[in-house]
Amino acid sequence: MTEAITIPEGEDFAVCSCGNDVMKDAFATVDASGNEVEPEVGGGWVGHLQCNACKAIANVLGGKENS
Ligand SMILES: [Zn+2]
Repeated sequence: MTEAITIPEGEDFAVCSCGNDVMKDAFATVDASGNEVEPEVGGGWVGHLQCNACKAIANVLGGKENS
Protein backbone atom coordinates (compact mmCIF):
# COMPACT_ATOMS: atom_id res chain seq x y z
CA MET A 1 0.00 0.00 0.00
CA THR A 2 1.47 3.33 -0.99
CA GLU A 3 1.40 6.30 1.31
CA ALA A 4 -1.32 8.32 -0.37
CA ILE A 5 -1.47 10.99 2.29
CA THR A 6 1.60 13.07 2.98
CA ILE A 7 2.57 16.37 4.54
CA PRO A 8 4.73 18.18 2.00
CA GLU A 9 8.10 19.39 3.22
CA GLY A 10 7.67 22.81 4.81
CA GLU A 11 3.88 22.53 5.00
CA ASP A 12 1.69 22.05 8.07
CA PHE A 13 -1.26 20.37 6.39
CA ALA A 14 -1.75 17.00 4.77
CA VAL A 15 -2.56 16.41 1.14
CA CYS A 16 -3.72 13.22 -0.56
CA SER A 17 -2.55 11.83 -3.88
CA CYS A 18 -6.20 11.83 -5.03
CA GLY A 19 -6.16 15.64 -4.87
CA ASN A 20 -7.94 16.05 -1.54
CA ASP A 21 -6.57 18.46 1.02
CA VAL A 22 -7.74 20.07 4.26
CA MET A 23 -9.59 22.79 2.35
CA LYS A 24 -11.60 20.26 0.30
CA ASP A 25 -12.92 17.07 1.88
CA ALA A 26 -10.27 17.07 4.62
CA PHE A 27 -9.13 14.09 6.64
CA ALA A 28 -10.29 12.07 9.62
CA THR A 29 -7.93 11.12 12.44
CA VAL A 30 -8.03 7.35 12.70
CA ASP A 31 -6.09 4.41 14.06
CA ALA A 32 -4.35 1.91 11.80
CA SER A 33 -7.64 0.05 11.34
CA GLY A 34 -9.57 3.12 10.27
CA ASN A 35 -11.49 3.68 13.50
CA GLU A 36 -11.89 7.36 14.30
CA VAL A 37 -9.88 8.56 17.28
CA GLU A 38 -9.23 11.88 18.93
CA PRO A 39 -6.34 13.71 17.26
CA GLU A 40 -4.08 13.63 20.29
CA VAL A 41 -0.70 12.02 20.07
CA GLY A 42 -0.42 9.90 23.21
CA GLY A 43 -4.19 9.64 23.47
CA GLY A 44 -4.51 6.70 21.13
CA TRP A 45 -3.64 8.52 17.92
CA VAL A 46 -0.25 7.73 16.44
CA GLY A 47 -0.53 9.77 13.28
CA HIS A 48 -2.94 8.04 10.91
CA LEU A 49 -5.19 10.13 8.73
CA GLN A 50 -7.95 8.85 6.50
CA CYS A 51 -8.79 10.77 3.36
CA ASN A 52 -12.48 11.67 3.35
CA ALA A 53 -12.48 11.58 -0.43
CA CYS A 54 -10.80 8.28 -1.39
CA LYS A 55 -10.67 6.63 2.08
CA ALA A 56 -6.95 5.98 1.92
CA ILE A 57 -5.23 5.69 5.30
CA ALA A 58 -1.66 6.71 5.98
CA ASN A 59 0.48 7.50 8.99
CA VAL A 60 1.49 11.06 8.26
CA LEU A 61 3.70 11.28 11.34
CA GLY A 62 5.72 8.22 10.45
CA GLY A 63 9.34 9.24 10.26
CA LYS A 64 8.48 12.91 10.45
CA GLU A 65 7.61 13.93 13.99
CA ASN A 66 9.63 11.41 15.95
CA SER A 67 10.26 12.83 19.36
ZN1 LIG B 1 -7.59 10.73 -1.11
